[in-house]
Amino acid sequence: MRPVYLDNNATTRVDPAIVEVMLPFFTEQFGNASSMHAFGSSVGGALRFARQQMQALLGAEFDHEIVWTGGGTESDNTALLSALETQGGRDEIVTTAVEHPAILNTCAWLEKSRGIKVHYIPVDSRGRLDIEAYRRALSPRTAIASVMWANNETGTIFPVEVLAELAHEAGALFHTDAVQAVGKVPMTLRDSEIDLLSLSGHKLHAPKGIGALYVRKGVRLRPLIRGGHQERGRRAGTENVPGIIGLGKAAELALLHMDEENTRVRALRDRLEKGLLQRIGNSFVTGDAGSRLPNTSNIAFEYVEGEGILLLLSKAGIAASSGSACTSGSLEPSHVLRAMNVPYTAAHGAIRFSFSRDNVDEDVDQVLEALPPIIEKLRALSPFWAKDGATGFSPSYV
Ligand SMILES: *Cc1c(COP(=O)(O)O)cnc(C)c1O
Repeated sequence: MRPVYLDNNATTRVDPAIVEVMLPFFTEQFGNASSMHAFGSSVGGALRFARQQMQALLGAEFDHEIVWTGGGTESDNTALLSALETQGGRDEIVTTAVEHPAILNTCAWLEKSRGIKVHYIPVDSRGRLDIEAYRRALSPRTAIASVMWANNETGTIFPVEVLAELAHEAGALFHTDAVQAVGKVPMTLRDSEIDLLSLSGHKLHAPKGIGALYVRKGVRLRPLIRGGHQERGRRAGTENVPGIIGLGKAAELALLHMDEENTRVRALRDRLEKGLLQRIGNSFVTGDAGSRLPNTSNIAFEYVEGEGILLLLSKAGIAASSGSACTSGSLEPSHVLRAMNVPYTAAHGAIRFSFSRDNVDEDVDQVLEALPPIIEKLRALSPFWAKDGATGFSPSYV
């Protein structure tokens, strides 16, 4: 059976066209961009071109900086730690309860090790941010507000342009983890007040281990990694030249095909969602259907365990993901669904399907055929289904 890959929010396949433009930079143009000879200078020109490709995708001015990093996690860490150093004694962070661990675990560490106060703004049952609570949390002590552009588990999109303006009214910097949004959501950063933005190559059909931090002109940045003078002292270490070339090409392709791919991918996603909800009772979509990435669907199947579903899907050649992080035997449902107050009986059975431009109609057909009998089988084994589900009881959740 053809394998079906629907876990593109975890990572994407590197586009063959991207591999192709990277290859010469391993073997022929292998120079160090800092070297004073032809090997170095030919690489320097290619790096400048990649930067322009990324600025075009982000709608950034040409003097807004793109600092290449080792990925989304490094960009997120750099943004938070830099702001605490450059923001003159401000010692608070405002963020949300549904960020990626790259933000949440960094914040938890800052609270513990440095006594930084972190405000975690809640979301409602559809995953929408409580903007009033956000506004109240901002103060003259806020160094930086950090809110993701789109959530990786549910696809919910946050109004980051407005949130950036509110942060500036309080004199704070605004950072967005846009790892899931870049390439899927049109952006014109030059018209926004966003100061810092994180992105990652491998969520965008470029390789793993390369990412970038966008830095608005005039925003001061303290490096996370110190050493040589690469990236104008903002990120030391010899550049990952093939990775940067690949990420530049990924930006070019994303910009070129964004509209048509969003339309095509959204149609696939919607057909899967509709088909599954029709075929499987006691199931519902989580997240804000009105403001959502076109490629992401998170569906909660009541009275079943996500891990069981994934295992049987995997046997059927289908790769998806559960929001829940299975930590040392205790099956805690995802922090995102818990923040949304999704009942445990449903959060445990939440499955994320995330599409990319590599997906086709047959992928949807295959899941629509394989999943209903899997849920039926698992529910037949579930004591909770026998007790509540089969009798029509449904937790009061909208
Ligand atoms: C994947 C992801 C990251 C981490 O990016 P890496 O390049 O894997 O370090 C951060 N934030 C979000 C929202 C992500 O989806």
